[in-house]
Formats: sequence, C-alpha cells, structure tokens
Amino acid sequence: MGGAMDPIPCFSCGDYFPSSPRHKSQRYCKKPKCQRAKKAEWQRHKMHTDPEYKAGQRQSHQEWLRANPNYWKGYRKRHPEKAERNRILQIIRNRRRRKPEGSDADTDTSLIAKMDASKRNDFGLVGQFWLVPVIAKMDASKIVLRQIPAGYD
Ligand SMILES: [Zn+2]
Repeated sequence: MGGAMDPIPCFSCGDYFPSSPRHKSQRYCKKPKCQRAKKAEWQRHKMHTDPEYKAGQRQSHQEWLRANPNYWKGYRKRHPEKAERNRILQIIRNRRRRKPEGSDADTDTSLIAKMDASKRNDFGLVGQFWLVPVIAKMDASKIVLRQIPAGYD
C-alpha cells in the first residue's frame, strides 16, 4: 500500500506524477498548462467562498475596463454580429425591467404582439433574426428567413 512518494494522477491532464511528502494536497502536475488550470481552479473556488476576493476581482476588472476604454469598441468591430445581438438583447432586457414585477409572461407577449402588429402587413419579411428565448439561461440563436419561390411547394 502507498507511501508518500506514490505517483498520483494530475487533476488537469491525468498524467501520473510523483507526489511530494511536503505537498500532500498537491493535485496538479508541474506542466505549465496544469499549473494554469490549478490557478484558475483556485480563483473559481475563491470567487465562490470569499466575498472580499470577489469584490476585489470585480473592481480590478472595472479598473481594467477604464484603462482600456477602446476594448469594447474594438470588440464590436471584431465581432459585429455579436455586438448587434447584444444590442438587441439589451433592448429586450430594458423593456423587461420597466415592467412591474410578476408580469414576466405579459412582458414578452406584449413585446411580441407589438412587433407582430407592426409587421402585420409585411409578409415579405425576409432576413436574418435573433430568436431570443424567454428563458433567461438559454442562449439566443440566429435564424434566417427565406422566401420560398412561388410554386415551390
Ligand atoms: Zn498535469
């Protein structure tokens, strides 16, 4: 049965590495990518367990954004599609926020109804749209509407 020097599997890559009697809680091998994984894991753990650390991280993120004011401008340029999607999602979030509490379903219905009304006579509606689910955790997906040529069906 095992002594302290028995090899143990790395949490990140799964390779066995010799455990050190001095670092009994060591779970990651010495590879740089596994050390990075170890640090990321530690940060995740801290974020969950240490409110002060979490606040500090948030603040440094905001400071970073302040120091790099062009980051989002550049991001939108690099990902125009995502920027457009975020813009639409923000509009929807804003509309939801304006509604009194407990009327989530109504919000979406009225929003849809409004869009529907404005497009009622526009059956030539063709293009690219974001399909935004009512369930917040689901991601929006892109759909493309195309006109089926007459006589096709
Ligand atoms: Zn490893």
